[in-house]
Amino acid sequence: MNLKFFSVLCASLCASSFCLAAENAFFSPDKKIQVVVNDNGGNPSYKVAYDNLTMLENSPLGINTNIGDFTQNLSMSSCDISEVSDSYQLPNIKQSSVDYHATQAVCSFQQDGRKVIDVIFRVSNRDVAFRYKIYEKRDNKVCVVNEEASGFCLPQGATTFLCPQSRPMGGFARTSPSYETSYSVDQLVGRNGWGEGYSFPCLFKVNDSNWVLISETGVDGNYVASRLLNVQGGFYKIGFPQQGECNGFGSTSAAVHLPCETPWRTITVGPLANIVETTVPFDLVKPKYEASQKYTYGKGSWSWIIGMDSSCNFDEQKRYIDFSAAMGYQTVLIDALWDVQIGRDKIKELADYGKTKGVGLFLWYNSNGSWNDAPQSPIGKMDNNLIRRQEMAWMKSIGIRGIKVDFFGGDKQNMMQLYENILADANDYGIMVIFHGCTLPRGWERMYPNYVASEAVLASENLHFGQGACDNEAFNATLHPFIRNTVGSMDFGGSALNKYYNADNAHGTQRRTSDVYALATAVLFQSCVQHFALAPNNLTDAPDWAIDFMKSVPTTWDETRFIDGYPGKYVIMARRHGSQWFIAGVNAQKETLKTTVNLPMFQKGDQIKVYSDDEQLNGKVSSQKVNKKQQIEVTIPNNGAVLLVTE
Ligand code: CA
Repeated sequence: MNLKFFSVLCASLCASSFCLAAENAFFSPDKKIQVVVNDNGGNPSYKVAYDNLTMLENSPLGINTNIGDFTQNLSMSSCDISEVSDSYQLPNIKQSSVDYHATQAVCSFQQDGRKVIDVIFRVSNRDVAFRYKIYEKRDNKVCVVNEEASGFCLPQGATTFLCPQSRPMGGFARTSPSYETSYSVDQLVGRNGWGEGYSFPCLFKVNDSNWVLISETGVDGNYVASRLLNVQGGFYKIGFPQQGECNGFGSTSAAVHLPCETPWRTITVGPLANIVETTVPFDLVKPKYEASQKYTYGKGSWSWIIGMDSSCNFDEQKRYIDFSAAMGYQTVLIDALWDVQIGRDKIKELADYGKTKGVGLFLWYNSNGSWNDAPQSPIGKMDNNLIRRQEMAWMKSIGIRGIKVDFFGGDKQNMMQLYENILADANDYGIMVIFHGCTLPRGWERMYPNYVASEAVLASENLHFGQGACDNEAFNATLHPFIRNTVGSMDFGGSALNKYYNADNAHGTQRRTSDVYALATAVLFQSCVQHFALAPNNLTDAPDWAIDFMKSVPTTWDETRFIDGYPGKYVIMARRHGSQWFIAGVNAQKETLKTTVNLPMFQKGDQIKVYSDDEQLNGKVSSQKVNKKQQIEVTIPNNGAVLLVTE
């Protein structure tokens, strides 16, 4: 397909009489979202409106395979509309119990008189999603998907909140792309990142009150993970992996068995509350296996973020086990090089010691393999299923709680299979899994019950590596609840209470944010297992109220609600754990934010514990009563925060 076709398409193709078009419209259960699908006499498209306002203009549909080009010469033969619903419990995401209701539309397309694909739509009250079902063609039981036409035409005036996809085999030890690039906010459409598009999820502001978040879910070893490419202007489309990824090895296409259903393309629309509260990545997938045991989530510490590689020694890890025990935390994460700096026998000794303190171990692994130059060991343990399972049997024998596997090789199908195989094997041995240097999770919290979280963000390590990241820390924190963290658990490893990212707490990069901010991000950043960047010295050098809060803050949430904010400026959001609400706000704007927040979850007279900052970022704790309008005044200085907690 060429650019000319797309620009015509975006300008609403089928107004003229030359085509004999079939069109179908359907709505979300609350009727606010309307989707219209049209075959335009050959080239199918869809458009999306919310509250009668255009969110996506006519945007192409279709899929190009080696058994046929199903992007053109298609006619829509039927569109079966039904209601679907699902109720599920998922303790490891932003909301523990979800009731999902949606309209399903199965739009069938014919080519040369034969049904070739369905486009299956789901429209819930916040989200539109679609995927393709590809049918067998006579003796063809398999095919290769080379490209999707799936596009997204943002209306005139839309602005972008995006981070570029890295080129392959660049960055540290040729480990990119690993979803670790900076966001640009409120930019005009029409750019294509660094030439390779953008990493999911991708946020667009359509008008003063409505937004569009584009992502994908249900990606596993049966397909590739995708990115978003700009074609021109406000027109974006799905892009498959880059040829150079995974050391150039493996195809950029997806090989599938027929009939097959592709991953879901998701489009969350409406006000920012819809963006922050969406559960669409999880609504559309199912568990791929049963949990082998009940996994215990919770908090932990890790020495590496403050002490780096040299801290991965026996004595320091023992000290961190004691520290986790003093905090009431469940785990310690032992980062890279433990195999040479501690050794396997001594790791067993640490695991045994941890057991006496109620502290389990997470162990770091290199995912390699042959996909990049990352030298850190243990290496060669996770890329081969025989060795991996032997290693995991050893872990199980000494009671290892989880693993953190780092430095993956991109988004090709072979790498998606590796993620899935690590998860499935780890479940056999009762091990939880965190990924770093990795792709975005795409529904994995529900698909793989022992999956915990992924990095796929410029995480806390950058605060140690460079002052620029510290200077921009609050700015980035005001983006994640709307973008990266709203579609998947995020292993950020933050909430440092050291003034400096160094074991002596006297030199190195300097934290610009307040102590209340450190506490607030423990609520803002969602992952069911949190390894905080706290250090043993914080037991004596941090305020008591800060340590007490970090001891008690939950890592699992029953409910999440957006209160107020604007991506890149400030964010105030609420999470509930049991009957206790935690409302966290951070401000990245130069000016102090003074605002009245509506708290419909509280009653008049309810007592709230308030953690707040003065203009010099000195924190204090007070108690306040909710007024009869269920409101509270808050003041948040630049790089500061506020926390309101049910007393
Ligand atoms: Ca990283």
